[in-house]
Amino acid sequence: MTTDCCIIGGGLVGLATAYRYLEKFPHDSVLLLEKESRVACQQSTHNSGVLHAGLYYKPGSEKAKLCVAGIREMVAFCQHHRIAHEQCGKLVVAGSEKELPRLDHLWSRGTENGLQGMKRLGIEEMKEREPHVSGIQGILVPEEGIVDYRAVADTLAREIVRLKGEIRLQACVERLIPEGSCWRIVTNQGEIVAKKVVNCGGLHSDLILESSGLKRPARIIPFRGEYYDLKPEARHLVKHLIYPVPDPQFPFLGVHFTRMVQGGVEAGPNAVLAWKREGYRMFDFDAKEFWDSISYPGLWKFLIQYPSMVTYELYRSFSKEVFCRSLQRLVPEIQQEHLESGSAGVRAQAMFPNGKLVEDFLFVHQGSLTHVVNAPSPAATSSLAIGRRIVTEISK
Ligand SMILES: Cc1cc2nc3c(=O)[nH]c(=O)nc-3n(C[C@H](O)[C@H](O)[C@H](O)COP(=O)(O)OP(=O)(O)OC[C@H]3O[C@@H](n4cnc5c(N)ncnc54)[C@H](O)[C@@H]3O)c2cc1C
Repeated sequence: MTTDCCIIGGGLVGLATAYRYLEKFPHDSVLLLEKESRVACQQSTHNSGVLHAGLYYKPGSEKAKLCVAGIREMVAFCQHHRIAHEQCGKLVVAGSEKELPRLDHLWSRGTENGLQGMKRLGIEEMKEREPHVSGIQGILVPEEGIVDYRAVADTLAREIVRLKGEIRLQACVERLIPEGSCWRIVTNQGEIVAKKVVNCGGLHSDLILESSGLKRPARIIPFRGEYYDLKPEARHLVKHLIYPVPDPQFPFLGVHFTRMVQGGVEAGPNAVLAWKREGYRMFDFDAKEFWDSISYPGLWKFLIQYPSMVTYELYRSFSKEVFCRSLQRLVPEIQQEHLESGSAGVRAQAMFPNGKLVEDFLFVHQGSLTHVVNAPSPAATSSLAIGRRIVTEISK
């Protein structure tokens, strides 16, 4: 079988890329290969369901550009297809004087990135919005919101089929072999030759890259994010989205409160090293994947650089009391008995051999093959803009 464009991976990034490709080249054939029996079963539906506006990202970076464009494209897509979403706004709270310089830094980033309507709030104004919050100052980001990413993924899949693309499920890509200017894609369901290929394999993107004969520029290290759900009697304590000021050393945002678009409030996620790429539970283990992580010098350099952060995250993962204490910094009335174990997701976070986490989105072009090597948060928000960017790049 031959196709003009083959997309590997049916998460939001792969689906959005296939959709944007079909919009631009309606007469080309597009085949999307997904190893699961349904699209978007990994990161894309195991996340916080937040529409990020671009507050955190270095101005000029791929994340800043694609998030700012992405939230606008995503909101327009949701409005057009009547997908549940709400731009309810987010409050980022500084808990102490020590955090104020970091809050100032976020403010300048948000301003440089062109976020609209941001406001600095004192404690009284914060309490008007979130009566139970604690802190000394905050930033209100009105553009941020919540969305049903499952509905976004299913709608994208329907749109791809409507535009005459094909989605093949339970089709796992095993190898990529160059064939002239094309690629032969070996899957568990046979082989396909494609003129253009985009690897959107999420947690497995680096392994797919390696199967094409390239050396991995960075390795995916899985970081699990665990949530608690607020019990109904405590949900009134959180009206919208409440976030702490993040530690600038890490690309994770710190445990926060998220009102979900389907109702309910989630608290989390933490960021714990996982023993398996799709390791959603604490004791999920895969020997081969574990070896792939621990045999990587980059991971050891990371562990040596940040031993206290790694152990603290592990400790907090085991201790509800410690998790609850982190949440009490934002909302002191939260008690352990208000929390029940919730879902978890695993971040595909790429790490360089020097132990530095890859901060920005990372794309690697190999002739007619493009690899999305690092697309962690805010890639769900940014997916439609990422898809547009990839299609522009591959059609040059
Ligand atoms: C805990 C958590 C919270 C997050 N919160 C947010 C948030 O609030 N807002 C936000 O914007 N982002 C958030 N993110 C990030 C966001 O979810 C991801 O960046 C985004 O979903 C990445 O999409 P993807 O398509 O690259 O990856 P995925 O959704 O993981 O999709 C990759 C797909 O590739 C398939 N695949 C893998 N290998 C193969 C193979 N060999 N053959 C065929 N198919 C294959 C997988 O089955 C999967 O369906 C969060 C992530 C996590 C984990």
